[in-house]
Amino acid sequence: MTHVLVLNKHFVAISVTSWRKAIKLVYLEHADVVDEEYRTYSFKDWFELSQVIREHPAGFVHTPKFRIAIPEVIALKYYEKIRFEEPRLTRKNIYEHYGYRCCYCGKKFSSDKLNIDHVLPRSRGGKTEWNNVVTSCVECNLKKGNKTPHEAGMRLVIPPSKPQRRLKLSLVLNSNVRIPTSWQKFIDNLYWNIELEE
Ligand SMILES: [Zn+2]
Repeated sequence: MTHVLVLNKHFVAISVTSWRKAIKLVYLEHADVVDEEYRTYSFKDWFELSQVIREHPAGFVHTPKFRIAIPEVIALKYYEKIRFEEPRLTRKNIYEHYGYRCCYCGKKFSSDKLNIDHVLPRSRGGKTEWNNVVTSCVECNLKKGNKTPHEAGMRLVIPPSKPQRRLKLSLVLNSNVRIPTSWQKFIDNLYWNIELEE
């Protein structure tokens, strides 16, 4: 899957998306394509450019009538209008979100030594949603069993929480996915901004 880096209107990296969604956002004029020289392209400009360039790092999407280059970076024009879906509740996303730590004892484990725990057990009506799932190590998991933390006399060192928007981006940056060179300056920009926020 080709990831497209999404910047907000101030050119700060905020997420990644699929090329399909990226092209759709540009087509709907919610975003512009951004090149390495910080130039921006509307859908029309990008479409025209796509017909004349021979090569493009991310390749092209072909339809019977035309082709369009897959953007590597897009910038949202009206950030507040775009909603990003919450990261899916997959095992990997949950582990990543809690930093591979057991939420009960706070220690770090490899993924094969971690379990997913429903804070309010499923048998008691606990739902599988971000605010009710945490990671736990084998030992803490055995101790907790089918009880609530209170009943088991346990405390959550790391409380359950919903991931921030940046999770998806950090997931990609920390994975083995090849990071396009065109992303680099925007990612440097991102770290710089995070430091400023602290
Ligand atoms: Zn533990």
